[in-house]
Amino acid sequence: MTPDDFAAAIRTIPDYPKPGILFRDITTLLGNPRAFRRAVDELVQPFAGAKIDKVAGIEARGFILGGAVAHQLSAGFVPIRKKGKLPHQTVRMAYVLEYGQDEMEMHVDALAPGERVLLVDDLIATGGTAVGAVKLLRSIGAVVEAACFIVDLPDLGGADKIRAMDVPVRTLVAFA
Ligand code: 5GP
Repeated sequence: MTPDDFAAAIRTIPDYPKPGILFRDITTLLGNPRAFRRAVDELVQPFAGAKIDKVAGIEARGFILGGAVAHQLSAGFVPIRKKGKLPHQTVRMAYVLEYGQDEMEMHVDALAPGERVLLVDDLIATGGTAVGAVKLLRSIGAVVEAACFIVDLPDLGGADKIRAMDVPVRTLVAFA
């Protein structure tokens, strides 16, 4: 599928969650059997021989994609969650949101030092969330091989921030 095909499978909702924001709603892509399969196939394609140990998905849409990506790569899956949701001992990282900041968590034993991890989320905008996730994964010694997103909003600069951390970025469609 071309970037235009992926763009056509994604619904745009004006003024959500607040006035002036164009929300890129990927639930329409997830509900489209061909688009969902092709998105997962194309996200994993460069990593087929990369010996990825674990896929880390960011709550919540990163769980849906990350689970499918992990299955495709025969890798394990690690959830990165909003604080207070995980039952075992966690490591925590603050991250920057458009307005303010929050914290994300992962189980302390979710990855062993040196394990190779692929980070997955549905969309990268300012990059605050993904930068926090890369720092969190590195804090326990994981090697972040790459970060994958269906959608890039390049005007907000997030993908460039991740590349500046020496993490290759793969995206399938950009909305400028
Ligand atoms: P960032 O931290 O890069 O500014 O924002 C990315 C995070 O916010 C991702 O976890 C993503 O799921 C969510 N997000 C922000 N804007 C949108 C949007 O327009 N559509 C979707 N599906 N998610 C968004």
